[in-house]
Amino acid sequence: MTESFKGSFTQQEPIPEAAIEAAVAVMRHGRLHRYNTVPGEVAEAALLEQEFAGVMGAKYCLAVASGGYAMATALRAVGVRAGDKVLSNAFTLAPVPGAIASLDAVPVLVEVTEALTIDLADLKRKIDASGARVLLLSHMRGHICEMEKLMTLCDGIGVKVIEDCAHTMGAFWNGVRSGRHGIAGCYSTQTYKHLNSGEGGLLITDDEELAARAVLLSGSYMLYSAHPAAPGPDVFERVKYDTPNISGRMDNLRAAILRPQLARLADQVVSWNARYRAVETGLRDTPGLQVIARPEAEEFVGSSIQFLLPGWQAAAVADVVARCRARGVELKWFGAAEPVGFTSKYDSWRYADPGPMPQTDRVLAGLLDMRLPLTFSIADCKQIARIIFAEVGAVYRGQAAPVS
Ligand SMILES: *Cc1c(COP(=O)(O)O)cnc(C)c1O
Repeated sequence: MTESFKGSFTQQEPIPEAAIEAAVAVMRHGRLHRYNTVPGEVAEAALLEQEFAGVMGAKYCLAVASGGYAMATALRAVGVRAGDKVLSNAFTLAPVPGAIASLDAVPVLVEVTEALTIDLADLKRKIDASGARVLLLSHMRGHICEMEKLMTLCDGIGVKVIEDCAHTMGAFWNGVRSGRHGIAGCYSTQTYKHLNSGEGGLLITDDEELAARAVLLSGSYMLYSAHPAAPGPDVFERVKYDTPNISGRMDNLRAAILRPQLARLADQVVSWNARYRAVETGLRDTPGLQVIARPEAEEFVGSSIQFLLPGWQAAAVADVVARCRARGVELKWFGAAEPVGFTSKYDSWRYADPGPMPQTDRVLAGLLDMRLPLTFSIADCKQIARIIFAEVGAVYRGQAAPVS
């Protein structure tokens, strides 16, 4: 009797009651637009910015419409112009090169290592070869590279680092929060990330000019004084005549939903990591499977887990995916030839004209990925690991009956 998993890999937890109440209060008064306030009122969006800046230890914060918008805004605010080259990870998701392309800038992709982080040797080569002076660094699936080494390299050459923290909200590297190493950190509050407002994004920085430009870019008109987590009016005076308004604000309804979730983020991280460790433990001794080593310095958020089937034939990896799916376990394969669902690979971003990326090809060919929503129990996670262990083992030993 083979067991099957019955849970849903895309079902997140419900919105907490306190957040529902806050959302209803906003709807009852009707002032959903962040600049629609009564005298003495601080809008939910402004409060969220203050609180997020506080949690992250950042001077400034801006709430926006999406994570992708936060990244594009940070790129614009540091001065990226059409035709400029911008470095980024070859292993990331489509909104990252998309944010670069939205400025008509040109992505320069950097190889991934078996630790699933940016390859620093290739980064150095690509900086030298391209002359790019901005890196949009994606902490893809929560894997953080050696940040001291990366910052030393980039600071040494004058490359500005903007961090894509869509998967590292709540994570740290050597005690420093992810998003606090570079000049700006960008976060997503889309449903599948660590806070859920359906859509949404946050941008943090300590750079006053970047912050002022970002606020103006987001569509603040001349209402920037309604941003308590932004720099003073003198900074806005310097940049307000040459910064376009490209509307992408967050509304008060989303901000109201997010504030109570932010307050419990640290507890959620503990819950995610307990699930991550349960799956990781169950997979550790699977024949033919390599778990991803997590460095000491990295305090990650295990909202998803990845593992490698190194050197496997494509047909065998596809077989594992199919067999697991037949038992209710949804694995995403980053090596698949065609992009599916949320998963795509650098060679399907043809607008970016990526050159050959042999190392990334080799890693992604055997890379499997799985979400770990908090609606899974620890027992669910152990069961999922048992199923993967069995199916990977069966295909690896070549004793598997073909999937019907
Ligand atoms: C989701 C995601 C983003 C962008 O978030 P959106 O809010 O969907 O625009 C950026 N980077 C990565 C790696 C993501 O997974």
